[in-house]
Amino acid sequence: MAMLECFLFPCLSDNYGVLIHDPDTGETASVDAPDSDAVIAAAEQTGWSLTHILCTHHHADHTQGIAALKKKYECTVIGPGGEADKIADLDVSVGEGDTIAIGNNTAAIYETPGHTLGHIAYWFKDSALLFAGDTLFAMGCGRVFEGSYEQMWSSLSKLAALPPETKVYCGHEYTLSNARFAASVDPGNTALAERLAEIEALREEGKPTIPTTIEKELATNPFLRAKEPSLQASLGMEDADPAAVFAEVRRRKDAA
Ligand code: ZN
Ligand code: FE
Repeated sequence: MAMLECFLFPCLSDNYGVLIHDPDTGETASVDAPDSDAVIAAAEQTGWSLTHILCTHHHADHTQGIAALKKKYECTVIGPGGEADKIADLDVSVGEGDTIAIGNNTAAIYETPGHTLGHIAYWFKDSALLFAGDTLFAMGCGRVFEGSYEQMWSSLSKLAALPPETKVYCGHEYTLSNARFAASVDPGNTALAERLAEIEALREEGKPTIPTTIEKELATNPFLRAKEPSLQASLGMEDADPAAVFAEVRRRKDAA
């Protein structure tokens, strides 16, 4: 069985699109559909033809291209059952513990409520790939719009428990702002300081900062480090409940 190939492309103001392609069968999925023209251009550039759309959550910047892509490719649209009423053109509703397949590659579905209540992530174990939507960002996380801080912390903890080598694709290029904020709340973290310099160099050249990995996020993402004594100390929250530490970091980022 061959591993999935990925093609990443920026679109809209700061979104990412990704095509994933199973070389054995030719099946190809667009992860979310931020912009149908950008997805079609990516498909033409790669020579891959869409068979699926994997939707993470109902926000327009992830779903607005679905209708046009479905019309063009007659592809199957898979998405969160918890948001089926908010996403037009969904063919297959999935939730926690379900699996889906792109060719020979199977993904496990994780429900990751917080940013939206029905948000899901796709983990392709054999290809070591996670599509995290707007739940986990490189050095950051999505805003908690619909769920509670506790829900978001538990969603992030689920993703943080995946194998460290897992490559993580997320919905937006927010890494530079995330990295600068991270350095402000976790100033003693040398891995973070090094990564901030790498991110600045990449963005200066206009290059994407993703995919990231679970390992890098565990070392540098303050939203995953709510249990770390050094981060707790820098917030004046020694021995606090990690969900409360997470909530404090999220509030500070929202106010930054
Ligand atoms: Zn969103
Ligand atoms: Fe988004």
